[in-house]
Amino acid sequence: MAPVHEVSRRTFVAGAAGAAFFATRFGDDLAPGAVVNQYPFTLGVASGDPLSNRVVIWTRLAADPIAGGGMASHPYRVRWEVAEDEAMRRVVRRGSSWAEPEHAHSVHVDVSGLRPGRTYWYRFRAGRHLSPIGRTRTAPAYGSNPAALSLGLVSCQRYTHGYWSAFDDLVATDPDLVVHVGDYIYETGGNSVRTDPLPESITLEQYRNRYGLYKSDPSLQAAHALAPWLFTWDDHEVENNYTGTVPEVGSATPDPAAFLARRVAGYKAYWEHMPFRRPAPRGLNLRVDRRIRWGQLAEFFVLDGRQYRSDQLCGSADIGSHCDFSTDPTTTWLGFRQEAWLDRRLERTRATWKVMAQQALFSKMDFAPGATDIYNLDGWDGYPAARRRLTDSMVAHGASNNHSLTNHIVLTGDIHASGVSDVLADYDDPDSAVLGAEFVGTSVGSAGSALLANILPTALQVNPHLKWFDNSQRGWVHHRITADEWRADYRHVDDWRIAGSPSQTATSWVVPSGGSVAQV
Ligand code: FE
Ligand code: CA
Repeated sequence: MAPVHEVSRRTFVAGAAGAAFFATRFGDDLAPGAVVNQYPFTLGVASGDPLSNRVVIWTRLAADPIAGGGMASHPYRVRWEVAEDEAMRRVVRRGSSWAEPEHAHSVHVDVSGLRPGRTYWYRFRAGRHLSPIGRTRTAPAYGSNPAALSLGLVSCQRYTHGYWSAFDDLVATDPDLVVHVGDYIYETGGNSVRTDPLPESITLEQYRNRYGLYKSDPSLQAAHALAPWLFTWDDHEVENNYTGTVPEVGSATPDPAAFLARRVAGYKAYWEHMPFRRPAPRGLNLRVDRRIRWGQLAEFFVLDGRQYRSDQLCGSADIGSHCDFSTDPTTTWLGFRQEAWLDRRLERTRATWKVMAQQALFSKMDFAPGATDIYNLDGWDGYPAARRRLTDSMVAHGASNNHSLTNHIVLTGDIHASGVSDVLADYDDPDSAVLGAEFVGTSVGSAGSALLANILPTALQVNPHLKWFDNSQRGWVHHRITADEWRADYRHVDDWRIAGSPSQTATSWVVPSGGSVAQV
């Protein structure tokens, strides 16, 4: 019988059977899966995309994670269990799945039948080996009004640039949910604070090895084991500054077909290493946009501004001026399918906070006002017509549905800078309505740009909706959300070049429900 990747729906009643289940029963595991010799859970465990009755749990068998995985090219049987307690005594769901070689022996289990708003613990077993225990939680029931949500925002972790002490601080802070908005890996290696000895990732095997290196980091593993994640990608999961199906200028894969094959490899490896609910990608695309509701308190729209965007025609450099492309109605950032989906979701949502978890700076940041405006063309500023369609959608649905025009929150990464901005109905009209706030989280471990540091003082002066930016620090953002306010504490690591460096709150900002963001 051919093994199937789909999770077995068989589950067992909890109770005394739990101990027996996890007792070694080699017979079960031998047929037809291969025997697990070396410890295979080197990349830890993870969970993600919590619904009110289900959550995805993940692991990957990889005895030698930066050199091809180190597993035989056979499927392995992996058992899993989910419990109500940390000691794994009160098991409520269990089953088994297949770790298949064509998916790098990754395991994605969409565990169903859970209770809303509850904390659970989970682990896996392969042969005689037990994984670490991860903790996760389900979303509150849709109709409920949860009192609060504690959320961590992270992005941009270049292995070579430093240590990921930001994750240590996040783990100590213990948020309910973690949101990662891209640059989970960087496709190239190097030697700076830490060494990434791997060649540039182009093939599937090379991307897998890079995830193997990155996911070996103990701080990252601890953050995954702490809480469920929502996640989206940016460019470096494939290649710097690629747009849709077009490689960057100076790409190692300039040929269009070669780049597409590379993108397929990068997407597949991302799927393999993240707790995706959707099945493995087939063909060229991997759908990442989705929504997660947290009771009536918040609805998250996880966006993909990379896969479907129009090729940037105003210039190939990061920084440049607008051209006809910028106002062309066929220019898109999300792609028209995703735009329509988001528009419909914004129409239907009744959540207090409408949250977009996405890659790149949404708010306008004009670097050089005057006759020639200059922007980061790789961000929404390179696609102002698409941005305007989205803010028009926010305004239209806020007005027509008798729910708030405000309370839109945009969570952003990409620029390795901490920052706060108003979200405006029209960025070309400084007096237009404030729809909410954008919180830009600095990088966990990627150096800030000297160019941006030079530009920021002017940008803050001439774009009054930009409240504060600082690109000198690494860290994360702790968000505490209630029906009355959205609070953001910017946590910065003292010295990110030193392992275990502590973090401090640099500044705190609050959006009162119905109001606009201010420093507190
Ligand atoms: Fe980055
Ligand atoms: Ca990026």
